[in-house]
Amino acid sequence: MDTLITFAIAALVTLFFVRGHLKSLKEREARAREAAEKGKLFSEGPKAQHPHIDTGNCIGCGGCTSVCPEGDVLAMIGGKAVIVNGYKCIGHSLCAEACPVGAITMVMATPSMSADMPRLTPEHETSIPNLFIVGELGGLALIKNAVNQGRDCVDTIANRLVGSARSVPDVYDVLIVGAGPAGISASLRAIEHKLNYITLERDEIGGTVAKYPRQKLVMTSPVEFPMYGKFKKTELSKENLLAFWDMVLNRADFNVATGEKVEDIQRGEDGIFTVTTINNHYRSRAVVLALGRTGTPRKLGVKGEELPKVMYRLIEADHYINKKILVVGGGDSAVEAAMGLAHQSGNQVTLSYRQERFARIKERNAKRIEDCMRSGKVSVVFNSSPVEFKPESIVLDVRGKVQEIPNDFVWIFAGGTPPNDFLKKIGVQLGMKDMTLEGSNEAKQAAQSRQQFVEARAGVP
Ligand SMILES: Cc1cc2nc3c(=O)[nH]c(=O)nc-3n(C[C@H](O)[C@H](O)[C@H](O)COP(=O)(O)OP(=O)(O)OC[C@H]3O[C@@H](n4cnc5c(N)ncnc54)[C@H](O)[C@@H]3O)c2cc1C
Repeated sequence: MDTLITFAIAALVTLFFVRGHLKSLKEREARAREAAEKGKLFSEGPKAQHPHIDTGNCIGCGGCTSVCPEGDVLAMIGGKAVIVNGYKCIGHSLCAEACPVGAITMVMATPSMSADMPRLTPEHETSIPNLFIVGELGGLALIKNAVNQGRDCVDTIANRLVGSARSVPDVYDVLIVGAGPAGISASLRAIEHKLNYITLERDEIGGTVAKYPRQKLVMTSPVEFPMYGKFKKTELSKENLLAFWDMVLNRADFNVATGEKVEDIQRGEDGIFTVTTINNHYRSRAVVLALGRTGTPRKLGVKGEELPKVMYRLIEADHYINKKILVVGGGDSAVEAAMGLAHQSGNQVTLSYRQERFARIKERNAKRIEDCMRSGKVSVVFNSSPVEFKPESIVLDVRGKVQEIPNDFVWIFAGGTPPNDFLKKIGVQLGMKDMTLEGSNEAKQAAQSRQQFVEARAGVP
């Protein structure tokens, strides 16, 4: 009898836990569906590198869905991991690392997306021999990727130089364009290899990182940093990261020329490159392009856009107080800038966005901006676009009606023009070569995911 009772209790407890587990699975699926609907599951694909899920191998543990710093890129639908907000992926790869069965690999964008990416070999070489592209310009975002590629690419160059006649007069072994993380890493590796090199930077050392908002928390992964060794920090402020680079570069006696915007690169019949800036010509046996993809901020072409009060980048929000401010755009940068400015004393911030709702922002930002709208901290005007900037006001077109609002400053966040024209001009082939197969696999997987989504919604077991 006792055994029977024990057995019955054990069965009840098991049933209780199984029901609880099934309930939590259902809830997770419901949340995934909600995220998918919100994130336009099938209309907005990933922009660059992103997870590819082998649904045959996926065991449905959900480990990958909780580790992404960008939020709900992945979710569980029909017991499998699927991409629900691909456009949010910037390639951290933590999902791939978290998958216990190796069902996730990081791949590049689909063919349609890859058409404007430079065609590169696995050594990062372009269609022009000894002209390399590293970092975000090659399609892979993130600091760790930039550092790894910059370092490895210079190893390739150094290997090619072994045995060849070194030290041609007035000709560098390698010329590096850009001093962001990829260019810094490439330069330091060139020092380690004792190459005769120079780095040209049009702006300031640090690249995109130097332009992050003040005290931005940078998330990165442990990485082998040339002239230093293993850099183990995973979270640090922008200022601390720049100070670290500064320390290593000073120690290494970095040979950089700033204020040097590269305008042309031509390879002569002797295989030597001539690199032209506004002021100088340089000659080099190999060139590494580490230009990033930020390019030039996109302008709106609106009357008055040339006024000094119109800006495209916000670094020091706390320098602006008691001002009437317009922020234009609907991405994370625009929303973050609007909220940052609204937190400064006395500012009145209007955010103008041409769509009827925010669709492409991080979950965290979506919640915070809703709070700001509710509390009146930021006045968001959807379905609007600026038609004129005047010295003391701006004119907005809101659903066809024109409004003039008093204004001191304007920030525009309309993306940037990537440096593709420059690449085309110097003869670098853009295209899809290695990405086609991955793209078609991705399309197949998207179709499967779509099917699962539809089945899950219809309650098909
Ligand atoms: C707001 C924001 C937040 C981010 N947060 C993170 C994060 O937390 N963690 C992370 O890992 N990544 C983050 N990223 C991505 C990361 O910053 C980039 O992937 C990384 O900076 C790319 O490095 P890069 O060296 O390839 O290019 P960049 O950093 O863009 O550097 C390119 C350099 O080339 C120079 N240059 C361009 N054209 C020329 C020319 N013609 N002549 C001379 N010089 C030229 C530019 O002035 C620039 O200094 C973030 C990006 C943004 C925009």
